[in-house]
Amino acid sequence: MSSLTRIAVVGTGVAGAYLLNRLPADVEAEAFEMRTEKNWYTVCAWGTSQPFISDLVKQAGFNFDDYILHRGKKMRVDLGDEEVTIPLRGLVTYDKHRLTEDMLKGKKVHWGAHVKEANGDFRGFDHVVDATGLHRSLLPKVQDDLLIPALEYQVKSKDLPYDDFVIKPYPGLAGYWWYFPLGDGMAHVGGGDLHHRYQGDLDEFVKKYHCEVVRKIGRPVRVTPPKYMEPFFDGKVTGVGESIGTVYPMLGEGIIPSMQCVNLFVDHLGDREGYRKAVLDHYSEYAKVYRFIKAKVEDKFSLMKMWPSLLSVYMYMRGNERRFGLQTRFNDFFKVITRL
Ligand SMILES: Cc1cc2nc3c(=O)[nH]c(=O)nc-3n(C[C@H](O)[C@H](O)[C@H](O)COP(=O)(O)OP(=O)(O)OC[C@H]3O[C@@H](n4cnc5c(N)ncnc54)[C@H](O)[C@@H]3O)c2cc1C
Repeated sequence: MSSLTRIAVVGTGVAGAYLLNRLPADVEAEAFEMRTEKNWYTVCAWGTSQPFISDLVKQAGFNFDDYILHRGKKMRVDLGDEEVTIPLRGLVTYDKHRLTEDMLKGKKVHWGAHVKEANGDFRGFDHVVDATGLHRSLLPKVQDDLLIPALEYQVKSKDLPYDDFVIKPYPGLAGYWWYFPLGDGMAHVGGGDLHHRYQGDLDEFVKKYHCEVVRKIGRPVRVTPPKYMEPFFDGKVTGVGESIGTVYPMLGEGIIPSMQCVNLFVDHLGDREGYRKAVLDHYSEYAKVYRFIKAKVEDKFSLMKMWPSLLSVYMYMRGNERRFGLQTRFNDFFKVITRL
């Protein structure tokens, strides 16, 4: 049994909402969200691996299949003068907003509560969770935090050009352009790129394919992994999710990693050092990917020097096809990585 009784969860993104459904019954939790209920939205392209996330969602008492929008078969990777086709193994888009919203139903949420520090209002709580994602509002800032700017349009059109996932990596591995189908003539078209090269691409797409832009959303995504995001604690506060860097840096993919982080937190309630060690261990591979991406964006990449870590990243993705929802073939992986 945990020694914690009252927990304040700050932030109701995927990590905060999932946590509210994963805490033991003897823990009383309240959530604090800076947005009003009307303005709250889950910024994301909504892509994830169905076989893997289903189990996580089930642990919170929900059926993931009820939220699936599109089941992918193959992903086209457009390298400019060449195209690679990656067979998919469960990559889907799902209505992340509706599922997160359902996870908040019946929970005590203080909407429009922009939390800046964990004292005052939190005196009655034993513990405060920083699930504020990119903001990391309640934990000390980190030096050299790598944030990739991103912008996404949710579009609707009868003339959408693709029927499955498409990505176009930007040279230098500084990010990629994406097209994620949402079914029913809708898609998320977006770009994440250190050099903001997506802006023109998105507007051109909208014009060319006669799109109605249903929603424009933008926020950077943190690709600094947990290894470089310490401290995870400050006073009563513990970080969970993207606030401590649980995003797979190669893909900017943070839904499953943030839910896994919640489960590590729940498994180590009241045992901070145990949680810290579990997080560092679980995301150790992310640090290798991050160092590789950093070398690429800083133009310090050397195939000779980085070969062992590249091979290890390949082996990790190859061994985790169910986790990522896509098949990782040696030729595809090295073509994409080394050509950019
Ligand atoms: C454009 C884009 C597309 C993406 N696409 C994908 C994808 O397809 N698949 C995938 O797996 N990942 C994707 N990601 C990454 C993924 O969305 C995030 O890593 C994940 O949502 C992180 O979850 P979180 O709960 O930690 O943080 P968030 O989802 O960011 O939630 C944080 C919450 O905290 C609230 N908040 C912030 N500060 C405060 C404060 N001070 N007080 C109170 N509330 C606060 C925010 O309003 C928000 O509701 C994408 C990210 C971006 C930016």
